Amino acid sequence: MRCPICEKDEDKVIDSRSARGGSVIRRRRECLSCGHRFTTYETIEQAPVYVIKKDGRREPFNRDKLLNGILMACKKRPIPMETLETIVQEIETKIHNNFPIEVPSRVIGEMVMDKLQELDEVAYVRFASVYRQFKNVQEFMEESEAVQKRRIQKEIDKSQLWIFTQKPEIGSQKSF
Ligand SMILES: [Zn+2]
Repeated sequence: MRCPICEKDEDKVIDSRSARGGSVIRRRRECLSCGHRFTTYETIEQAPVYVIKKDGRREPFNRDKLLNGILMACKKRPIPMETLETIVQEIETKIHNNFPIEVPSRVIGEMVMDKLQELDEVAYVRFASVYRQFKNVQEFMEESEAVQKRRIQKEIDKSQLWIFTQKPEIGSQKSF
């Protein structure tokens, strides 16, 4: 790899590790001529997947664009960046496996919504409101309400589980 500083073509690899869930190898290199250290990334060469947009136009899939969309939805939510990177990676892998040539943008949106629904309800509703392009506030409210109901149901399920795991109080009837 040519050194970006002195442009000599000899270096040694000083560190090599996998990133993005193993789909990328990141290498730290040191120029043998000037000692400058720089980083290279190695990935499998993949033909680009095309995203079919709502109006029928196609554009190459762009993981940064996907990450930005998710970041917007997760703004000020207590979600680590690492988690979001993982979500993007999982979605990208799923796209390459199931839609190797082209994928409707709607499908990507649904993949994201599935992930966010498990992760954070606020982020989910925010993302859904953009992706499904709710026609009016009423629709948006209905979606929020549906999320709310699911959350309440989850709480009920949890508390029922708690009841079932409680042991009966032995001896409590002795006083009668
Ligand atoms: Zn150099």
